[in-house]
Amino acid sequence: MKRLSILGSTGSIGQGALRIVARFPERFAVKALAAHRRLEVLADQIRRFRPEAVVVADARAARDLAASLPPASRPEILCGEEGYRRAASWPSADLTLNAIVGAAGLLPTLAAVEAGKTVAIANKETLVMAGGLVTRRAAACGASLLPVDSEHSAVFQCLEGRSPAELERILLTASGGPFLERPVETLAEVTPEEALRHPNWSMGAKITVDSATLMNKGLEVIEAMRLFSVPPERIEVVVHPQSIVHSMVALRDGTVLAQMGVPDMAAAIGYALSYPERLPLGQELPAFAAGLTLSFRAPDPVRFPCLALALEAARAGGTAPAALNAANEEAVGAFLERRIGFGDIPRVVAHALRRHAAEAEESLEAVLEADREARAAAREWIVRNRA
Ligand code: NAD
Ligand code: MG
Repeated sequence: MKRLSILGSTGSIGQGALRIVARFPERFAVKALAAHRRLEVLADQIRRFRPEAVVVADARAARDLAASLPPASRPEILCGEEGYRRAASWPSADLTLNAIVGAAGLLPTLAAVEAGKTVAIANKETLVMAGGLVTRRAAACGASLLPVDSEHSAVFQCLEGRSPAELERILLTASGGPFLERPVETLAEVTPEEALRHPNWSMGAKITVDSATLMNKGLEVIEAMRLFSVPPERIEVVVHPQSIVHSMVALRDGTVLAQMGVPDMAAAIGYALSYPERLPLGQELPAFAAGLTLSFRAPDPVRFPCLALALEAARAGGTAPAALNAANEEAVGAFLERRIGFGDIPRVVAHALRRHAAEAEESLEAVLEADREARAAAREWIVRNRA
């Protein structure tokens, strides 16, 4: 029986994880749940999974949640930063799934790692901001990190049982998002509704916009650097519109191993939760015999300037990825609120990166300062240029 703490339980990944828990009640028990403000969804999860503790954004949300639950079925209700940290390191849980979106996931990840938990990490922003720090602390505290991101789960699976010396390069696949074929000169007019319509995957709003700009793939390059200790020049991004090959590794004898499956996060989430076992998920297989075509190409740098910005931050290292991530979060938020256009997202990020004097050392203080500074620079650009 694995005992779980699920952070971001009301989101796309969090709900996907709970669907797996519900299908295999003999394998999993939920000890803690954390979410932000979707209290009705959380209350329903509490009724179904009976956690010992739940966390919400603030004291008011905690009061509202408590009022909506009969006293007999009320778990311990915590709130705010301290609450997320406690849930992340909940004593009776063996595995913490961090499925919070954005920089808010960093401190909970550190808390889980410092408590020596196995951490299933969907919150890629943690690894982008402070991946060096997190992996060092994990090693020191006996914690392990299991990837949930489908590309990183694929690489992890391809590398299982191999020595790092065999690895030549990582090939991260990218669907290319909804605008792969749209005329480049019309990208400035993209609306939030269009950006939120991903062709292959159903995900939360922020990552869906990141997939449309390909910033998501840039963040994933940095995530892969951190998870697999590989420099950016040995990670290649390949556009693969069908999203069947979840990623590949090239070994030193020229062998390329790919991990494939239908585009459904259940397999990657399930593998992180049940590792090293595999769950009988009953997934359909890619329709090979029906004439399935898999195609691959290089990403177009003119169409996707965010990818180059992320690679620039990856190469700069230190606090540059934290600044990149923070500016991107601000830009995506402003785009979704229609304060800037789609084409402004890379402009905001470039502005904040230019202004950032990267510190070489990735201490927690330096990372949080880089995050604050880059958000301020991004907001300043947004106010000055607002649509
Ligand atoms: P989502 O927006 O659907 O859900 C986010 C969750 O985080 C919600 O439960 C929300 O309540 C919580 N949350 C939001 N702000 C918070 C805050 N300030 N403090 C605490 N909790 C907060 O997002 P998602 O699509 O499930 O993505 C979650 C993470 O997983 C992201 O880092 C994303 O990049 C990564 N990821 C998602 C997918 C996917 O298929 N959705 C795939 C790969 C990686
Ligand atoms: Mg991914």
